[in-house]
Amino acid sequence: MKTIAIVNQKGGVGKTVTAVNLAIGLAKEGKKVVAIDLDAQGSLTVSLGYNEQDKMETTVSTLLEKIIADKPIAANEGILHHEEGIDLLPANIELSAMEVTLVNTMSREMVLREYLKIIANDYDVAVIDCSPSLGMLTINALTCADEVIIPVQPQYLSIKGMEQLFRTIGKVRKQLNPNLKIGGILITMVDMRTNYTKDIISLLHESYGQKINIFESIIPLSVRAAEISAEGKSIYQHDPNGKVANAYKGLVKEVV
Ligand code: ADP
Ligand code: MG
Repeated sequence: MKTIAIVNQKGGVGKTVTAVNLAIGLAKEGKKVVAIDLDAQGSLTVSLGYNEQDKMETTVSTLLEKIIADKPIAANEGILHHEEGIDLLPANIELSAMEVTLVNTMSREMVLREYLKIIANDYDVAVIDCSPSLGMLTINALTCADEVIIPVQPQYLSIKGMEQLFRTIGKVRKQLNPNLKIGGILITMVDMRTNYTKDIISLLHESYGQKINIFESIIPLSVRAAEISAEGKSIYQHDPNGKVANAYKGLVKEVV
């Protein structure tokens, strides 16, 4: 199983929308995919149509607690099936307590990795939607990931903010997960009509393009993309021939 973490400590950059459409896009390519919601806000869970998340008995935090307590986990425990062919491990607000619990846990960075070992034979790909922080949960995601994808908006401060993320990735690589790769930077919510956007994209290529893959697929700013979260489906169903669907299809091709 290949594990891809969608990471950026800045919120509102398109992580969750990217997780939905990457996961479902990979399933359309024939991969067996599990999407994992690692944000206590449960945005991925809601975006896939599960609105009653606070009533869910088993979520990602339940399973992580079991790992910590060394309790057995049943096959498929807590896993939901989305109609577009992916599975989901949901999250709700209970996950926010996990951030604190983990601090005092033995091998605290490895808890998610231990869980993934249990489901690794059932899937080709796991896509992890991270929270907007570099806390213990995100460190857990980086520790079990093969690759990170970093969505970023074409804004000066957003690009500057990536330095801290790169430092964290470097530390995790050194201490916890030497195989961690940066799959690429994904430029999201792009309005190509302005020169400013073009300038910032050039700056991004100048600053990082030598060392880090920057996906050729650029996700346009479009209300169509924003609408999918309320619909509980992917952009491929919501607006199959639109520019956002095309851009995410391009991303899927690049990732495969
Ligand atoms: P994050 O997970 O990084 O916080 P989201 O994926 O939730 O970011 O996106 C933040 C907001 O922007 C959401 O309201 C989402 O619907 C919207 N959004 C995401 N991608 C696009 C896009 N390409 N164009 C317009 N709005 C978008
Ligand atoms: Mg999100």
